[in-house]
Amino acid sequence: MNGPFAAAPSAPADGAQGLAPLWIVGLGPGPADWMTAEAVAVLDEATDIVGYGPYVERIVLKDGQRAHGSDNRVEVDRARAALALALEGRRVAVVSGGDPGVFAMAAAVFEAIEHGDPAFRTLDVRVAPGVSAMQAAAARLGAPLGHDFCAISLSDNLKPWPVVARRLEAAAGADFVIALYNPASKARPDQIHDAFALLRRVKPAETVVVFARAVGRPDERIVVTTLAEADPALADMSTLVMIGSTETRLIDRADGERAWLYTPRHYGRER
Ligand code: SAH
Repeated sequence: MNGPFAAAPSAPADGAQGLAPLWIVGLGPGPADWMTAEAVAVLDEATDIVGYGPYVERIVLKDGQRAHGSDNRVEVDRARAALALALEGRRVAVVSGGDPGVFAMAAAVFEAIEHGDPAFRTLDVRVAPGVSAMQAAAARLGAPLGHDFCAISLSDNLKPWPVVARRLEAAAGADFVIALYNPASKARPDQIHDAFALLRRVKPAETVVVFARAVGRPDERIVVTTLAEADPALADMSTLVMIGSTETRLIDRADGERAWLYTPRHYGRER
């Protein structure tokens, strides 16, 4: 067959010869028009779609397609199951919201390959990138990521909190714009408060703070405020929190619409 699941001409001569590639696909932040054409083509031709339940549910299945949704905490098991399906000859798409390489399934698949069945290494694994939440939020706001920035996940399921705290402090000290992923969930309501307490100790009170919730979805809500006034309780698991650098600033608009937010390309120039 042609298309994304065609075996590469250089497919390895042993083991997986003739097997279709396994695709790891980014679905983007929500709306279909923020998905790449490559991701759409892969989903169109996959026989098996594997991922965290809510992401899999976003996909309208075609006849004959099987969905394998699962819990969010079993990423590597899910990855192993996907690799096993590909070895059975299925056309497998492992899906993530946003970009699959940003706090998502691509790393879980490679972890399963590194520590798993040696046969997994014979598969042709491909990653289809997607628009990540920080890019979608930035696009709504103006150009807040126009200069150096970093992304930090606040989830301490996968790393100890002192590591999160050390990174937040270092990022604030280096004056990066900071995109905070996984700021809060029902199981972790407090960390975003701890993070703000830490940031308030080291960053100016007037630093711009954004809560960008469900960007691109019908329940989108964007709040632009300052570090002094921000209410961390606005953040939930659908929210991307952005913390400006000392250069990040607002431009008021003539029509009274929400001000544009941007970080200039030059650092330290006179305002
Ligand atoms: N791979 C995803 C991130 C997965 S981690 C990506 O590249 O975007 C999940 C976190 O991403 C959420 O807790 C939230 O912080 C952020 N996120 C995902 N989709 C979002 C959206 N539409 N709007 C705002 N934040 C979003």
